[in-house]
Amino acid sequence: MDLRDTNFSEFLKPSQIIFDLKSRDRLEAIEELLDSLVRLKLINNKNLTLTRIIDRENLESTALGHGIAVPHARVDTESQIAVAVGRSAEGIDFEAPDGQPVHLLILVVWNPTIPGLFNHLFAGLARFLIKPENRARLLNARDKNELYSVLSEIHFSFPREDKIINRASLLKKLQDIEIKIRKSPREKLEELVKHRNLIREELDQSLLARFDLLMERYGYAVAEVVEGVCQSCNMSVSTQMASAIEESNDIYVCENCGKYLVAARKEKVAREKAEKAEKEKPAGKKPAIKKQKETASRKKPAKK
Ligand SMILES: [Zn+2]
Repeated sequence: MDLRDTNFSEFLKPSQIIFDLKSRDRLEAIEELLDSLVRLKLINNKNLTLTRIIDRENLESTALGHGIAVPHARVDTESQIAVAVGRSAEGIDFEAPDGQPVHLLILVVWNPTIPGLFNHLFAGLARFLIKPENRARLLNARDKNELYSVLSEIHFSFPREDKIINRASLLKKLQDIEIKIRKSPREKLEELVKHRNLIREELDQSLLARFDLLMERYGYAVAEVVEGVCQSCNMSVSTQMASAIEESNDIYVCENCGKYLVAARKEKVAREKAEKAEKEKPAGKKPAIKKQKETASRKKPAKK
C-alpha cells in the first residue's frame, strides 16, 4: 500500500492539549475535550460526536490500561482528523481493564471518507504506548510543552490522500457485495460478509439505514447516472447535480426514485481514457485535416 509517513504534530497543536482537566468524571472529561475542539473549530457537531463517543465507550471502555484512554468516534466533521489530549493529575475512572484510573486521554474524531484511518492512527499510538518508558514520559510530563513534545514523537503511516474513497462509490460497492451475498454458496459467505462489514464500518448510520431500507424494498439502493439519466427510473438528473455527483464526496439522491446516485464507472473510465490519449498524442504528427473532421463528427450528436 502507498503510505505517507507523518507524526502526531500534523494533527495536534499545543492548543489542543488541556494539561489540567477540570472534570473528574469520564463523560464530563470527554465533553471538556469536545468543547475545546468546538472552540478551535475542529468539529462542528458536539452533540453527535459526544453520542458516538459514548456509544463506543458503552460497547467497551477505550481505556488501554496503564492510565491511558483513547476515546474515539467516526463523524463526518470539518477536518479529516480532530484530536484533543487531556491530562488529569487526579485520574478519571474509565472502567479500564486494569482498574487503573486514567491520567491521559487522547480523543480522536475522524472523517469516514478515509477508510481505515483510525486503524492507522491507532496502530501508531499503540506502537508508541506499548513501551513503558514512553508512557512514563507522557504521564510524568511537567507541563503542556513537555507533554506536547513527547506526543509529537508519535509516528504514523497513512494511506495517501488519493486513497480517499468517494462515499457514493462505497455504497455502490456495498450494494454489489449484498447482491453477491444473496446468490453466494455458503462456503463463500464468510469472506463476503467480512468485506461487507468492513465497508459498513466506513459509512454513516443514517446512510446505511436508508440503504438497507431501499435494498429491502427494491433489491437495490444505488443507481448509476449515465449521460445525466438515473438508470433506476430513467429520469434526467439536473445537470448541476450530475456534475456534482462526480466531483464531490457528498451523497446525492435521485429526486424521482429516491435511489442513491453514483457516477457510472464505465462512462468515467472511457472519458479518462480519451483525455489521456488526447494528452499523449504526439504534437504535429497528426494531419490537421483529419483533426478537423474528428472534431466535427464529435460535435454532431450534441447538436441534435
Ligand atoms: Zn431515479
